[in-house]
Amino acid sequence: MCNEVKIQKAAEILRKSKYTIAFTGAGISVESGIPPFRGDDGIWSKYDPKTLELGFFYENPLESWEVITQLFYDYFGKAQSNKAHIVLAEMEKRGMLKCVITQNIDNLHQQAGSKVVHEFHGNSQKLVCTGCHSYFVPEDMDFDNLPPHCSKCGGLLKPDFIFFGESIPVDAFENSVEAAGKANAVILIGSTGEVMPAAQVPYIAKQNGATIIEVNPEKSNFTRSITDVFLEGKAAEVMEKLNDALFGKK
Ligand code: NAD
Repeated sequence: MCNEVKIQKAAEILRKSKYTIAFTGAGISVESGIPPFRGDDGIWSKYDPKTLELGFFYENPLESWEVITQLFYDYFGKAQSNKAHIVLAEMEKRGMLKCVITQNIDNLHQQAGSKVVHEFHGNSQKLVCTGCHSYFVPEDMDFDNLPPHCSKCGGLLKPDFIFFGESIPVDAFENSVEAAGKANAVILIGSTGEVMPAAQVPYIAKQNGATIIEVNPEKSNFTRSITDVFLEGKAAEVMEKLNDALFGKK
């Protein structure tokens, strides 16, 4: 477990930093009930990842959509942000955090109140028409009739997250690299560091002189290479302690 000394050290770095960013992966949402993709209990141990390959989706939209609705609307759709998401939103509100760069597609940072969120892999809580590019929200969809089609042009709808074989949204990539170049400190939460190109972001910040604070119950690629302060533990528990160190206990 991370001890009080490390929490205080992290709080001191964050108080002094003029430009802090957060970088989050699947681990920050585990305590909201969303498992990571990999690992023994990961999503890929129950579902076939090929259903989220772009080519497969266009050839077999019904089969893909059956998995998509189960995973992202019946399941992710009901998840609530946890203390870790909320502390990051509070830090932004108090001017201590410039942005969240997330690999997650669950919308939980926005639900917690974060305003500047760069979504590297898009967002599952929006649907986009593959024909006319109109956007829709899942609440307005009739998922009893799959696959869903656009009410304006009849085109096939796709969740607005990045499928395997799709490129990263240019804006998210450019904004993230720019923020990483300016950062004095990075709070890195719940990422293995194995998913590229997203994992480059903390390395870019480190190269530009940022101090890296990492929260994870397990060591990651980052811990072994660039992390300065490793806060070992679950995201919500550790961030609650960091919140108390920064803002005092409520
Ligand atoms: P990942 O790189 O996101 O790794 C998950 C990490 O979370 C691991 O390092 C693990 O030790 C850590 N972790 C587990 N429980 C934690 C906790 N309670 N607190 C903090 N950290 C914890 O790997 P992945 O899951 O294979 O994801 C692959 C890609 O898919 C990533 O881009 C990921 O963000 C995305 N994904 C998103 C969601 C989501 O939107 N919630 C869920 C699964 C995967």
